Amino acid sequence: MQLLTGKEVSDAVFEDLEKQTSQFIAKHGFAPTLAVILVGNDPASQSYVKSKKKACISLGFGHRDYELAEDTTQEVLLDLVKELNADATVHGILVQLPLPKGLDENLIIESIDSKKDVDGFHPINVGKLLIGLPCFVSCTPKGVLEMLDFYHIETKGKHAVIIGRSNIVGKPMAALLIQKGRDATVTICHSKTENLKEIVNTADIIIAAMGKPLFITPDMVKKGAIIIDVGINRVEDPTRKRGYRLVGDVDFEQVKDICSAITPVPGGVGVMTIAMLMKNTLQAAIQLAHEDTK
Ligand code: NDP
Repeated sequence: MQLLTGKEVSDAVFEDLEKQTSQFIAKHGFAPTLAVILVGNDPASQSYVKSKKKACISLGFGHRDYELAEDTTQEVLLDLVKELNADATVHGILVQLPLPKGLDENLIIESIDSKKDVDGFHPINVGKLLIGLPCFVSCTPKGVLEMLDFYHIETKGKHAVIIGRSNIVGKPMAALLIQKGRDATVTICHSKTENLKEIVNTADIIIAAMGKPLFITPDMVKKGAIIIDVGINRVEDPTRKRGYRLVGDVDFEQVKDICSAITPVPGGVGVMTIAMLMKNTLQAAIQLAHEDTK
């Protein structure tokens, strides 16, 4: 069994990004800059935002952090996005999800300039992805593809079963894998899927993105399958200082001798997401700088 470690891949991506960022700064005299908006006090979101800031600093990117109160109104948030859309020194805008109740996520995402939508959630980018045009691609599925490429995993003609149909993971993952050039045959499963076990059992590549700890068990896995575990779940663990540990959607210990390759949790897909966010931010800065010189 081959362990597909995200760290190895993200280190390679960061090394490449460092070089490209130095070249960008030398050419344009400014750094790619990411604005991150956090509304409320969700601890997981706070920790994600912190990691994004750390990644920006490590690459020499500019970063702007906006921490807004839980009771921020939609108007205030929309005004801030509008301001950042118009600010030529900001190249990427990200609104950390989920937003507190009462704020319309779709409306906020749509308000972001699609040219600065480094999360790849804007309907324009999602639509372009579906018809195979260049666009910002959602960071987690983009990170999965980067991992598959790094480890030379062939998707052509393979049956990929994606479990989860969210807008940020499952659906864009499917759109990427069915593109010409990737050529996978894709099945998407969700909570209403019948005969899930039988379907997953036919997969050459399993992509688990459901948020259900240790759900994928050995009886669901075909011998030699490749498993990409996107799930990140906290389960209680009194032996740990913090009282919990992170596990994936796949029962790693039980399936590791059946599959031919697998991503661990933690240390798998998770670290790829931020690497892809940085890649998208540099891409936005390059494209916007190019437009300015036209
Ligand atoms: P969502 O909750 O938005 O979507 C979960 C999906 O799984 C839904 O489509 C749901 O079906 C499906 N599902 C839930 N239970 C079952 C079941 N019993 N059988 C089949 N399908 C089921 O989650 P996300 O896509 O946002 O995230 C999925 C997981 O990936 C989470 O653990 C999350 O923490 C992790 N994640 C990891 C990232 C990373 O950086 N590695 C980034 C983003 C997410 P239905 O639509 O019918 O409800």
